[in-house]
Formats: sequence, C-alpha cells, structure tokens
Amino acid sequence: MPALFIGHGSPMNALEDNAFTRGWQDAARRMPRPRAIVCVSAHWETRGVYVGGTATPETIHDFYGFPKALFDVRYPAPGNPALAQQIAQTVKGAKVHIDPGRGIDHGVWSVLRIMYPQADVPVLQLSLDSARPGDFHHALGRELAPLRDDGVLIMGSGNIVHNLRLFDFHASAPADWAARADATLRARIESGDHASLIDWAGLGPEVVLGVPTPEHYLPLLYVMALRSDGEPINFFNARVLSALSMTCVQIG
Ligand code: ZN
Repeated sequence: MPALFIGHGSPMNALEDNAFTRGWQDAARRMPRPRAIVCVSAHWETRGVYVGGTATPETIHDFYGFPKALFDVRYPAPGNPALAQQIAQTVKGAKVHIDPGRGIDHGVWSVLRIMYPQADVPVLQLSLDSARPGDFHHALGRELAPLRDDGVLIMGSGNIVHNLRLFDFHASAPADWAARADATLRARIESGDHASLIDWAGLGPEVVLGVPTPEHYLPLLYVMALRSDGEPINFFNARVLSALSMTCVQIG
C-alpha cells in the first residue's frame, strides 16, 4: 500500500470541487482500496502518543468562522478498535495510549470525505506529540511500516509550508519565500534526505518561516519514514497559495 502525505489547506475543501480535491480523488483512484486508514493529523496534538480506539468516531468540527454547511458535515466512517490495539501493542519507541472516545478532526475528514465519500473505510488517528523533535516522529513512523503490507493506508495530513499569520487571502500568487521553501522541501523529499527533513530548521530561514509551529509539518516525517529504498515518490497538488503549500506526496 502506498503512503500519503496530504496538504489539506482550508476545511472548505471538504465542500468544494477544485483542483486540489480532484488531485485527492485521483490519488484514491490510483491506489488499491485500503482495509483501514491510519492518519496523523496536524489537528490532534497531545502530550504523549494516543491512538483513537472507538468503533464509531464522531466528526469533530475543530474550527470556527466557517459556514454552517461545514459544521453540518458528518463523516461516519467506522473506527477500527482492533487495529488501535495492535498499534498500541506493537509500537516500541513510544508508549501508545488508547483514547477510547476520540473522534476524527477536520485534517482527516475534510480530505477523506473527498477521497472516500462512502465513508466505508475504517479510520483511526494517531496523535501528534508535537513537543517532540523530528527524529522521534520519524522513528515512530517507521514502526508503522508493517501495516502497509497489511493493506493499511498510512496518511499524514498537514501542510509543509503553513504560515497563517503571513497568509494573504487576496494574493493570487505564492509569496516568493513560501514558493522557495516549498521547493527546498520538495527537493529534500525527492532526494530522500531524511536527515535534513528531520532537522528542518537547518534548511534555512525561509523553511523556518514556513514552519512557524511544527504541527502541520511533522505529519510529513511519518510518511517519509515509510519509504523503503528505491520506492518511487510522486508529488501532486504541488502549488503554493500565498504562504500555504498544498503539496501532497505519495510514497510507493
Ligand atoms: Zn490544518
């Protein structure tokens, strides 16, 4: 099973038909149908690591200032408690706790609603202990690799460049620095330079400006860690909106 990093952008994508949502649909079509999806989202930050253990995850509307239609969206995919147990028992690099009540946040459902509109693929989330350094996340991601052979889609959902403070809704073009930061990161992804990606601050001030807080960046490290030697890497939706990169990465 491939592994996927999704640049999710605005939650409104959940309701739209645009170039980005079509890119997500195409990704779902070219991959085998997963038996379950494990997602690391920018929008579930915790101290310690948790996995969602409910059979019926609720749709969490973790935003404000959006139209009622977005708050009305429900994504009723089932969970997979057995898979949550399996992850909690097999991951060794961190203690993985089971959160019995956790639903799914918009970093997950705004994308999956487009990719799997029937909501018939079980979904669970792995939380992001965002205070931990890059190598912690990379190592944790690598431990999920056996799940790929078992038909599980591992997905990271964030944005590799994400600076909302510098985001200009009226800008029709990317900010120059943001386009360069996106290109820098894509080059490192493509060359498999995991060390630089793990220690992204070393990639220069424009990347640092694009990652003002780590939560939208770190899901990438889980996906990169899943790449075995020589596996293909494909980019899609590689576009920067003002100070936000929509770049998506498919491994395998
Ligand atoms: Zn987000």
